[in-house]
Formats: sequence, C-alpha cells, structure tokens
Amino acid sequence: MDHRLPATREMAQEFSELFVNRRAYTIQSMRPHPESGRHYYYRPKPRDGGEPVAVTIETVRRHLAGELTIGIYAINPATQRCKWMAIDADYKTALEDLIKVQRQLQDDGIEAALEKSRRGGHLWILFETPVLAREARIYIYHVASKLDVQVKGTGLADGIEIFPKQDELRREEFGNAIRGPLGVHWGARESRGWRYWFYGADYKLEDQLAYLKRIEKVKQEHLQRMIAGKAIPQEFAQHARRTECPKYFHSKAGEFRILEYVEVKRQAGRNWITRCPSCAAQGNDRSGDNLAISVEEPRKYCCWAGCTKEMIRAALGRPVSDRRLA
Ligand SMILES: [Zn+2]
Repeated sequence: MDHRLPATREMAQEFSELFVNRRAYTIQSMRPHPESGRHYYYRPKPRDGGEPVAVTIETVRRHLAGELTIGIYAINPATQRCKWMAIDADYKTALEDLIKVQRQLQDDGIEAALEKSRRGGHLWILFETPVLAREARIYIYHVASKLDVQVKGTGLADGIEIFPKQDELRREEFGNAIRGPLGVHWGARESRGWRYWFYGADYKLEDQLAYLKRIEKVKQEHLQRMIAGKAIPQEFAQHARRTECPKYFHSKAGEFRILEYVEVKRQAGRNWITRCPSCAAQGNDRSGDNLAISVEEPRKYCCWAGCTKEMIRAALGRPVSDRRLA
C-alpha cells in the first residue's frame, strides 16, 4: 500500500496555521534503529554549526505528502504560549480514556479532534489565539483528575501524556515534540509507513484539513473561565514547575549562595538535585545526584553521602570560617 499522497502548498499553509507554533521541529527516522527497532525523532542538525534548521512550508508539504514525518513542539518560548494542546494515549484502555476526556471537554463547550494512533490516539484541542501553556495544562490536569484518568509520570507506567509537557521553557529549550497530525508513522507494521487519520472526516487529506479548519477553536477567555481559581493539582505540581530559575527570596550582599556554585540538574519533589561538590572532589557521586537543595529555602542543602556543610563549602573554595562570607 502506498502511503504517498499529493499535497499542495496551500494545504501545508493551512496545516501550519493550525499546528506550527515555532520553527524548530523534529523528523522521524524512516529506518528503524538497528538495536531497538524503533523509529526515533531527531532535530535536524544545522550545517556547519549555523542557524538552527527551521521548518518551512515545503517541509510541511512533504509531511502531508508522506515523504517525511515531522514532530512539532507545543510551546513557543518567546511567548510561553501554545496554539494547540494534545493528549497522547497509548495503552490498552487508551481509546476509552480519550473518549471519556473528549466527552468531558464537550460538556465544557470545547470541541476536540480525535486522531487514531497505533494503540490509542491523540486528542487535539485547537486555540483561537495562542494561550499560555500553563493555563492549558491547568485545565487538562483538572479534567483528568475529575475523570480519574491516569496521567503518565506520577509513578505509573500507563497514562495519558499531555503536550505541552512544560509550563514554561527557557529560550534555548524545546520541550517535547509530538508527531505532526496526518503524518506517516514509519514504525507501523502494516506497511512501510502508515497514516493515521482523524475520526471526524473522510480519510482524504482535503477532507481532514477542512474538518480541522472547521472545528471550533477555543477562545482564551473560555479557557480562563474554566480554570478560574485553579492551579495544577498538587500531585502533578513537581512535573510542571520549571527547574531553571531557583530564587532566594531575601539575601544579603556577599552571602554564600550554593546555587551560584552548582548547576541544578533536576527537581525531585521539594528539592533541586545535583552533584555534590565535596563528593565530586573525591571522584565520587558520578551519577550527580547526591546534593539536595531545598526549593523553598535554597540556603538549606545536604549531601546524601554525608558530606558536612563545612566540607561542601571547602570544596567550593568558600570555607565557612571565612567570616566575610557568613
Ligand atoms: Zn557529598
């Protein structure tokens, strides 16, 4: 079965208006990885270390034509906004969960488009104008919580995945990409490539695009009404918080601030995690996770391997005995 279809620049333009929110993108490898057999996505590398490769109308046209498959990023870090939100579900009861969510959205006055996938599907919400990723996420986390639909990443292997996966990004960050709708999935076994369609229209590019253009786009005010007074539910908060801007709320000039000496690797619960400088000086803590720094109060930190504050300060060349630095 041939997965290639004629696609025009006009189609690509329409698709871009709906789904392209920033110019960075990924491409799915057509060849399976020799060991895992999986078809990974990678970000096209700039030639000679030049400007990052930006998605063009021609790239999108080829995606629709089935010549290549792109992955798209939700958040534009210049605005922290997204044009769409997607819920990815891929497990035994995925489709049931997606339909449950879709029905709840409908009750909330939000039309969502369901796209097939291998085991489950992707449920897409389109916004009239780009909305803050954080606000979109608050809404969908509450829907999931209300319906008792599991979200992946809370210690559970199965569950829905929400794109955007972050509330905010730094300028140089990308977040997570998802397969662009209507694209060919090279890993599907049925053929050398398989296209998944939206349930809402005939399985032709023209009809699918017309359907996507027609469905009601969610207004920002509507979203904001739905989340009034809400925040990300407590159990998900740690996945949503950005990890790159730890803050001291009050501090004195010359005060020792550990965060100026270490680079935070990630957040785990109420702590930032990174390599302990004292362990590192002895060639230990290769996994780089011995030091925990309190998110709420970054003056508090401790090494799980037992290094004392004095040892850590000494390793950083700012010994505690130096009164100036108290
Ligand atoms: Zn240590």
